[in-house]
Amino acid sequence: MTAATTDTLELFRQSGALLEGHFKLSSGLHSDRYLQSALVLQYPEFASTLGALLAERLRHLDPTVVLSPALGGIVIGQETARALGVRAIFAERQEGRLALRRGFSLSPNDRVVVIEDVITTGGSTRETVDVATAAGATVVGAGAIINRGKNESTLGLPFAALVNMDVPAYQPESCPMCAKGEPVVKPGSRA
Ligand SMILES: [Zn+2]
Repeated sequence: MTAATTDTLELFRQSGALLEGHFKLSSGLHSDRYLQSALVLQYPEFASTLGALLAERLRHLDPTVVLSPALGGIVIGQETARALGVRAIFAERQEGRLALRRGFSLSPNDRVVVIEDVITTGGSTRETVDVATAAGATVVGAGAIINRGKNESTLGLPFAALVNMDVPAYQPESCPMCAKGEPVVKPGSRA
């Protein structure tokens, strides 16, 4: 485990954002751990620390702007951009598709890094990359606080994550917590 990973997990623990129990993930799989990024990012000093850690990993790509998908990527995108000394902009859904709004623009001179809080399948990162490319900019890399998938190999871009979650996830029928009759919780839903 890298120092950045240890530091990151410690911030999640301190802010109650590392949940342990029996969770139903958005993929439908069950897991005994869940990282709730919004809970760590609610503390600006922690958000700033995580942004600086991501910036260290991406600075060599010489980005000129950070682009994040709304809403989850905005806070960490802002803090990563602050540490890099570049602009932070975001893409948001308009009629179901991510788009630049609010007067945000990219130029052919822009070197974009796409920043998200959590990357699982890479779908929203790819969609954000497409927004930047369609605007004429060059995407030079991507980053996330948490990588829950195998995204370094599938994105086709330099990719940095502070934590690579190697947490087992189970189909409900083979879930050991289900077998013990433990009630399953959907993280983020109102308990
Ligand atoms: Zn289960």
